[in-house]
Amino acid sequence: MEILGSGTSSGIPTVGCDCWVCRSDNPRNKRLRASVLFRVGPPADETRLLVDVTPDIRMQALRAGVSSVHAVLITHTHADHCHGLDDLRALYWGGGRQPIDLWAYPESLASLKRTFAYIFDDEYDYKGIARLNPATFEHQPFVAAGVRVSPIPVVHGNMRVAGFRVGDAAYITDCNEVPQTSIEKLKGTRVLILDALRRAPHPTHMSLPAALDVARRIGVERVFFTHINHDLEHESVNKELPDWARLGYDRLRVAVEADGKVTIREPGENTQPHAVAW
Ligand SMILES: [Zn+2]
Ligand SMILES: [Zn+2]
Ligand SMILES: [Zn+2]
Repeated sequence: MEILGSGTSSGIPTVGCDCWVCRSDNPRNKRLRASVLFRVGPPADETRLLVDVTPDIRMQALRAGVSSVHAVLITHTHADHCHGLDDLRALYWGGGRQPIDLWAYPESLASLKRTFAYIFDDEYDYKGIARLNPATFEHQPFVAAGVRVSPIPVVHGNMRVAGFRVGDAAYITDCNEVPQTSIEKLKGTRVLILDALRRAPHPTHMSLPAALDVARRIGVERVFFTHINHDLEHESVNKELPDWARLGYDRLRVAVEADGKVTIREPGENTQPHAVAW
C-alpha cells in the first residue's frame, strides 16, 4: 500500500492556520487528503486499486508516478474522499481509455450519481470525462480488476464506511467505531492503515488512543495512522507510540512481501519491491 494522503478533510497545513504543525517545514507534517493505492503483483505487471478520489488526486498521482489505475474503490462520499472524481479522466486517458471499474456501496454510488450526474450520463455530449464502470458491493468479498477485495464495514457517525482488506493489508479510514464483526474480518492482517484524527475523542472519528485499542484487538503486526489533523505532530507523537504503531505520512509505502515479511520504503526510494501486495 502507498499512502497518497494522510490528512484530515481540510488537509495540513490548513488554510488560515498558523499553529506549529501547520507551519512545520517537516514534509511528514504536510498531509494531503486521505487516500491509498493498493499495488498488487510484480512491479512490472502490477494491478493498481485506488481507494477514494480526493480533491488532491491530481497531485497525488503526479507524486506517485501513476498515470493509470485498474479500479477505484470508494469508502464513502464525504467531499474529501470523492470530490476529485472528475480528475479520474487523466487516469482514464493514461490507461488507454479503458473504462475504469468504480466500486462503492449502493448508497455511495447513488450519491456520486447525483453529485457528478454528467459523468454517468450516457447522453452527455462532451468528450473530456472519464468513462467509469460502476459496480456495487455489500458484505461479500468482490473481485476488482482481478484482485480479491474484502469490504470491512465501519461506523462513521450516522453512516457506514467501507474499509478494504487486500491479502494481509487493510485500509480503514473515517470511523468512530470498528464493530466486533469487522475486527474478526481483520484478524490476520499484517499491516493496517487506520483512522486516528487527533488525541481527543471525536463524534465521527477515532482518537489516537481509540485507534491504538482497535489495532491491539485485531492483533496487527504494524499499524499506521491516517486522516490526521494538526493536533498530531509527526516526530513528537511517534516517540509516544509503541514500536509497532506509527503515524502514517504521505508517500509512505508499506509492503507485505511474498514471504509475509512487512517492509517499509521511504518516499523517493526507487528500489523495486519483490512484493506480492503492497
Ligand atoms: Zn474524511
Ligand atoms: Zn494548524
Ligand atoms: Zn467522512
